[in-house]
Amino acid sequence: MTSPRTPPRLPRYDDDHAPERVRERRELVERALGLALPHAGGAPVPTATARGKIENQIGYAQLPLGLAGPLLVDTSAGVRDVYVPLATTEGALVASYSRGMRLLRAAGPARARVVKDGLSQHPVLVYDTLESAQRALALVAGMRARFDALVAGITKHGKLLAVEPDLLGARLVLRLVFATGDAIGINMAAHAAELCSAELARASGARERYVHGQDVEKRSNARALVEGRGRSVVCEARIPRAALAELARVEPEQILACWRTYAAGYAQLGTHNWTVQAANGLAAIFIACGQDAAYLTESATGWLDFEVLAGDLVARVHLPSLLVGTVGGGTGQGTAAECLDVLGVRGDGGAVVFAELIAAAVLAGDLSLLAAFCAHEFVAAHERLGRNRPA
Ligand code: NAP
Repeated sequence: MTSPRTPPRLPRYDDDHAPERVRERRELVERALGLALPHAGGAPVPTATARGKIENQIGYAQLPLGLAGPLLVDTSAGVRDVYVPLATTEGALVASYSRGMRLLRAAGPARARVVKDGLSQHPVLVYDTLESAQRALALVAGMRARFDALVAGITKHGKLLAVEPDLLGARLVLRLVFATGDAIGINMAAHAAELCSAELARASGARERYVHGQDVEKRSNARALVEGRGRSVVCEARIPRAALAELARVEPEQILACWRTYAAGYAQLGTHNWTVQAANGLAAIFIACGQDAAYLTESATGWLDFEVLAGDLVARVHLPSLLVGTVGGGTGQGTAAECLDVLGVRGDGGAVVFAELIAAAVLAGDLSLLAAFCAHEFVAAHERLGRNRPA
């Protein structure tokens, strides 16, 4: 595994937001990465590129775009050392993620891996009696070849990985799991689910059929946490005690104690998001990289976990339902394409590494914020970097 060249540290200036400073910083990144980033610099993309993506278009929304990092990660495609694009209006967010990335760098590369990959759909078929629903359930196994043929008829990259029917009273929930290549794949999966569920409804005499009958889509839900949907990804890092003290002014035991209290609160709240601030980093990366931001609801599902090993802090985050793609949707043009290029993941073959980089960024942000809570630095940092009083 070869080590990539570390991109330069990003300069900060007294007049940090002056146009020439922003340009200087962008040009440094362009030189370092060998990329041109005209759209990040403000050049408009043709409105025609939005065809199929929006109706009643009047222009483009704009948010400030910053870079955190560099972030050093051992991914399934080798070690990557990248800047992470974040589009946000939350002051202190980029600084917080950047500090977390310095902590992960002290760990050597954090290790991130997609551990499961499959987009599920859950059509529901309704029967008059439990007996009919059970007969339909018994039919499903024998229809696998037919389902595979239906899927192959509409998509090259989509593949049916599993068919898992279950009964809900006299209803049948047809859980279909798809491989989706480098796309989120919701269009191909929804089309395939429509065809497969219609075929079963015909064969079994269902009274009614709803293609999104058990609607997990874009909502916090138990399946997202327990089964996972999309790319399920884990990132792990071992931060030396000395680095934690030097960079974040805390001891590993303080992080554990703080986390126990947060976890007790999460248990009481009944949340599916057992992370500190996954939604912050995910939202900013999703917007920068042309992802469907509504999938944040499922994607911010996750577990954070800490232990102390031989005095060092071991930190892990598991995001079981990360719905991201490097092909399709809003990934192809303008700033989204440039940001995926900055990460080195645009297009075919990029989605797994994209998910792994995102998990590492999420772990960085959670470590940084938890350390700020422990050291009682959170409010001061926001007062300094993120307080905006309207003029
Ligand atoms: P998509 O925009 O439909 O693009 C995916 C297409 O790219 C596939 O048809 C695929 O062709 C092709 N493709 C080329 N190279 C590929 C590769 N390496 N991996 C995978 N596909 C490749 O993408 P999507 O992720 O399915 O859909 C995202 C869009 O759907 C977003 O704009 C989102 O807002 C919207 N959306 C739709 C629904 C829905 O229910 N339909 C729900 C929510 C959001 P083949 O299929 O021939 O392989």
